[in-house]
Amino acid sequence: MSSLPYIVGNWKMNGTRAMLAEARAIDRAASRFPGVQVALAPPFTLVHAMREAVQEIGVGGQDCHVQPGGAFTGDISAPILADAGADFTIVGHSERRALHGEGDALVRDKAEAAQAAGLSVILCVGETEAERDSGKAEAVVSGQLAGSLPRGDDAAVRLAVAYEPVWAIGTGRVPSVDDVGAMHRAIRAQLVAIYGDAGQGVRILYGGSVNAGNAAELLAADEVGGALVGGASLTAESFTAIIGAAALERD
Ligand code: PEP
Repeated sequence: MSSLPYIVGNWKMNGTRAMLAEARAIDRAASRFPGVQVALAPPFTLVHAMREAVQEIGVGGQDCHVQPGGAFTGDISAPILADAGADFTIVGHSERRALHGEGDALVRDKAEAAQAAGLSVILCVGETEAERDSGKAEAVVSGQLAGSLPRGDDAAVRLAVAYEPVWAIGTGRVPSVDDVGAMHRAIRAQLVAIYGDAGQGVRILYGGSVNAGNAAELLAADEVGGALVGGASLTAESFTAIIGAAALERD
């Protein structure tokens, strides 16, 4: 379990082979910040090419199927991702939960399938704006964790949790540093309750409109062990600024 800050870019459904130039530039930048662990999750089609193009950074998927293979047209399994060179996969992103109807039990099965294939997992959780406004944010996130965290021996070893308030994703809005700290402390307490001491080693990332301007203060919040970054990970210029903020935070 690494304790380095972990900065992960989620390219979502963006990225053709031309964007491998950005990945190479991000890789070169990451080599200047050895105190920060950096990774990118491109579309499936770029996983193998990106793995071949970069040296320093991790490469992962944005989702995986629960089965290792079979008649599941259009899906990608964890062993196929691993074969393509992926180190990890994101599961349970709010866009998958909302747009593909993925519930906690399915997300847990995906996380466990990924770990069984040797991948690390970034499990996403987060409340909607209505849930926050009605004072239910911590209860909602706690329920998602209880239902979707992988179980079993060593489940905490190759695991990070990303707290991503749905209302902050792609909107330019972010929670207060106090609210981020409070949620991350609650997540830590639950990880320790479930995994014991191993729960202390699970990095908890913040995600939702992280950019060069706000990264430093968000990364300084209690129990924030890195960031999951969407839009601002698409160019080396903006993503490198976030990696740099994480390096400064660590010093
Ligand atoms: C995300 O979708 O994981 C995300 C954090 O997006 P953005 O940084 O664009 O808000």
